[in-house]
Amino acid sequence: MGKPFAKVLIANRGEIAVRVIRACQELGITTVAVHSEVDADALHVRLADERYALGGQTAAESYLNTEAVLDVLARSGAEALHPGYGFFSENAEFARAITAAGVVFIGPPPEAIAIMGDKLSARVAAEKAGVAGVPGTTDVLTSAGQVVAFGEEYGWPVAIKAAFGGGGRGIRVVRSADEAPAAFESARSEALAGFGRAECYVEKYLTWPRHVEMQILADSHGNCLWLGERDCSAQRRHQKLVEEAPAPAFPDDLRRAMGEAAVRVARACGYVNAGTVEFLYDPPGDFWFLEMNTRLQVEHPVTELTTGIDLVVEQLRVAAGEPLRLTQDEVACRGHAIECRINAEDPSGGRFLPSPGTITGLVAAGGPGVRWDAGYQAGDEVPPFYDNLVGKLVVCGADRATAIARMVRALGETKIHGIATTIPAHLAILGHADFLAARHSTRWVEEVFTLPEVVETTSDVPGPAREVQVGGRWYTVPRLEGGVLRSGPPSRRRGTKSTGSRGSSGTVISPMQGRIVTVLVEVGDRVAVDHPVCVIEAMKMESTLTTERAGTVLEVAVTAGQAVRADQVVVLIGDGDTTEEAR
Ligand code: ADP
Ligand code: ADP
Ligand code: MG
Repeated sequence: MGKPFAKVLIANRGEIAVRVIRACQELGITTVAVHSEVDADALHVRLADERYALGGQTAAESYLNTEAVLDVLARSGAEALHPGYGFFSENAEFARAITAAGVVFIGPPPEAIAIMGDKLSARVAAEKAGVAGVPGTTDVLTSAGQVVAFGEEYGWPVAIKAAFGGGGRGIRVVRSADEAPAAFESARSEALAGFGRAECYVEKYLTWPRHVEMQILADSHGNCLWLGERDCSAQRRHQKLVEEAPAPAFPDDLRRAMGEAAVRVARACGYVNAGTVEFLYDPPGDFWFLEMNTRLQVEHPVTELTTGIDLVVEQLRVAAGEPLRLTQDEVACRGHAIECRINAEDPSGGRFLPSPGTITGLVAAGGPGVRWDAGYQAGDEVPPFYDNLVGKLVVCGADRATAIARMVRALGETKIHGIATTIPAHLAILGHADFLAARHSTRWVEEVFTLPEVVETTSDVPGPAREVQVGGRWYTVPRLEGGVLRSGPPSRRRGTKSTGSRGSSGTVISPMQGRIVTVLVEVGDRVAVDHPVCVIEAMKMESTLTTERAGTVLEVAVTAGQAVRADQVVVLIGDGDTTEEAR
């Protein structure tokens, strides 16, 4: 079989760009990488045949710069573009723009992206296809009263969800009627700020569901297959940490029903290419449509390992107009596969705080049944501007118990130095009786599972006591130590652990490299303990830095929009309330 394209541009970075480049190389396709300024020497750039600078640092300045990408398409002569996930992958306008330029978008038709990109029209499309969504509305919310009415009818809690949300963001849980007005207002403004669209709707918030999703693959000749499900219930902040195929304790008849439902949803929006229909599963019997992701999914490798199908190769072939090379009856799933997302995040105390920085050493696991899909190698820097996925460790085995044992062994072999990673959390999750017995749910990591306050997150240096606390989902509370209010990834900066007494002035420092979103205090403000001083964004996560002591703001060293380094002073607190200081 010939190659589907001669030259493909990969409009992404990190592990998924590397993944697509590898598939292209195996097919003899010339690869074109694009990169931001900070990624000039990144792994995906090193691996590609051709490289083009997009300029800029942030995603908006670089990988989301339509003009710059169109320009590289023209200059490189690439016939097709693979968007990976994130960035342009679910942007119908971008797909239309490159199609108009005569370039093949390796993904579904723009119309399918548009229907599924809006969670409301997606729910309507699923319902038309006879697939019920999580109980909820299909209209844009216009008042908090509608939230209250829905909650009283269906029971609390409910979720206000951004119609254009994604990546686990834009979901606000409302536990009672009292909470509805404030939640409604902030959900709308956050949706507008985060996704550029304020539309929200309300859904029943299931309290102990599992996330089970179905991989589909469709060609442009009317064939559409389901390739088996993935269970992605181990999550924090509504984001996946561990994924596996098949879903444990999931009966065959439900599997088939879900597969057929997913195919109906895909057909209902004229889907072509690889896609994922996500469901919430409420054992033992019910499942509801959640959303459809019109792209390659982060966790696609577990399906590849159980089906033996290379999804990226299939994406390329389908995009070139080739028919699928197998029928539904020929899809066979064997064994069990698990993926752990190795993120640059410190999981101490279940806080999962961003931990960008330089990977000073990296030893990947090997041996039977192990796959390492990474975006970085030793010496590379994980920048604070993009998401925090460092790599994916994926294993397969004859059955779930074998796969779990293999993953524990492979996690143990994986050594990442210089940054904190989620590996300790993965080891703890895989070793937990609830996970082994598949008694977990999407709420389990946050509600039941506990991680020690201090976990060894990187193997090069001993970790001192954690210096960061979070008083809520994304909140960071620095703590007074040696006269300094400190917060941040603990294990990377040490040697300064002071044994001195607490000083009379406090310095709030940035725990990480990132960008100041908002400054919340002014010079002269009297602040109490736990007073928020600024919001910082790193790796798509916002954290609020707060004080641990009371006092007067002597200096505000940052402004909104400013980039800050790890350890940079943001606010100086001077003598204020001396009674508080005695704390
Ligand atoms: P998956 O279901 O494949 O895990 P995710 O929802 O985690 O997908 O998103 C995949 C990638 O896309 C991640 O890099 C995620 O951070 C990013 N992403 C998806 N949607 C958004 C969004 N609306 N805003 C920011 N990042 C997003
Ligand atoms: P995203 O586009 O961010 O991926 P999803 O709608 O797929 O948004 O939801 C992401 C996660 O949030 C789900 O996997 C689940 O854990 C949780 N979630 C979303 N909606 C609900 C709901 N109605 N009830 C319970 N959990 C939900
Ligand atoms: Mg989702």
